[in-house]
Amino acid sequence: MWDTHGTARRGRGAKKRRRLGGMRGWLAVWLLCGVVACGARGAETETETEAETGTEAETEAETETETETEAGRGTGTGTGTGVSERWGERPHVRVLGSVQDGGLPHVACTCTRCDAARAPEAVPRYVASLAIVLPATHAVHVIDATPDFRAQLDALADVRDAPAGRVDRAPLDGVLLTHAHLGHYTGLPFLGFEAVHAEGVRVWATPPMNALLRANVPFSELVRREEIVLHDAPPGARIDLGEGVTVTPVQVPHRDENADTVAFRITGPSASVFYAPDTDGWDAWDPPVEHWLRQVDVALLDGTFFSGDELPGRDVASIGHPMIAASLERFAPLADEVELVFTHLNHSNPALTAGSAARARVEAAGMTIAREGATYAL
Ligand SMILES: [Zn+2]
Ligand SMILES: [Zn+2]
Ligand SMILES: [Zn+2]
Repeated sequence: MWDTHGTARRGRGAKKRRRLGGMRGWLAVWLLCGVVACGARGAETETETEAETGTEAETEAETETETETEAGRGTGTGTGTGVSERWGERPHVRVLGSVQDGGLPHVACTCTRCDAARAPEAVPRYVASLAIVLPATHAVHVIDATPDFRAQLDALADVRDAPAGRVDRAPLDGVLLTHAHLGHYTGLPFLGFEAVHAEGVRVWATPPMNALLRANVPFSELVRREEIVLHDAPPGARIDLGEGVTVTPVQVPHRDENADTVAFRITGPSASVFYAPDTDGWDAWDPPVEHWLRQVDVALLDGTFFSGDELPGRDVASIGHPMIAASLERFAPLADEVELVFTHLNHSNPALTAGSAARARVEAAGMTIAREGATYAL
């Protein structure tokens, strides 16, 4: 049942190229676009240019990143126009959101980080989500429909083939759901009668998740009106999105009060990505999560908390997420073969803030924090 056509293990050189395809790569290419006509070049040429100029561009990109994150916020600028030009016809994933279900600013929180996030000049961060973009056909799928769904659709304006001057009743080619918690499926009603009144947007989820959607308003109303069309995708299923991109759900141990939880392995013509934003501790995985990490080029992983002491008065361990501090140690042996990116950060997580000791530890380990607009080739 498992998809066995995994990407082979890659060495340091391969990882370097993938990293340049990530946030630093995006910024590096953006900087390079100031002196060369990126849009006119083929994907192959672009890749070579990125690799050749990697050192210098990366240095600049890091400086840029630090400047932009001094305000304690993500850049968010990667969602501007022209990404499909930079990436030519290459399928890729794009980070649409990088924080935990409660958002940033977190609902009803007045901590320093959340108050800073409310400042008018702050660059928005959104609840964790990932888009799968197929530029040749303008097909866009998203993983999870978050409470920030409206802004995240806007962030895809440059790659969606939307009609001008009216509501797009087919704004997405599909939605893939990880699980039934606040941040991951409650954006679906924006496709419903009170908003988009969509025309049969495909939704892939596990059978228990689909059963929950069929049985409960408002989701059942979307199903009844055929605004969404549910497809069962149990762990191990292979979903073909076109342009050589397939997605396979992977069972994830998590608090499964109402349904089950999956991660996704996304495999494209030239690279693959693993996306697991929400899980209990890594020890609960069977097979071990490393089984999946060794098969991909990039992995975006649950980075909800940095350490157990960041929520005063609450036992973080009982909430059930892996701690980034522990993940850094656990995944250190893999750091040269797969690009590791932490996402789904809670507002309490100090690694959200550039220049923090926590962020420095992540970067010293050769890993990064997910940023809205970052793209990774498939
Ligand atoms: Zn979540
Ligand atoms: Zn807060
Ligand atoms: Zn969850």
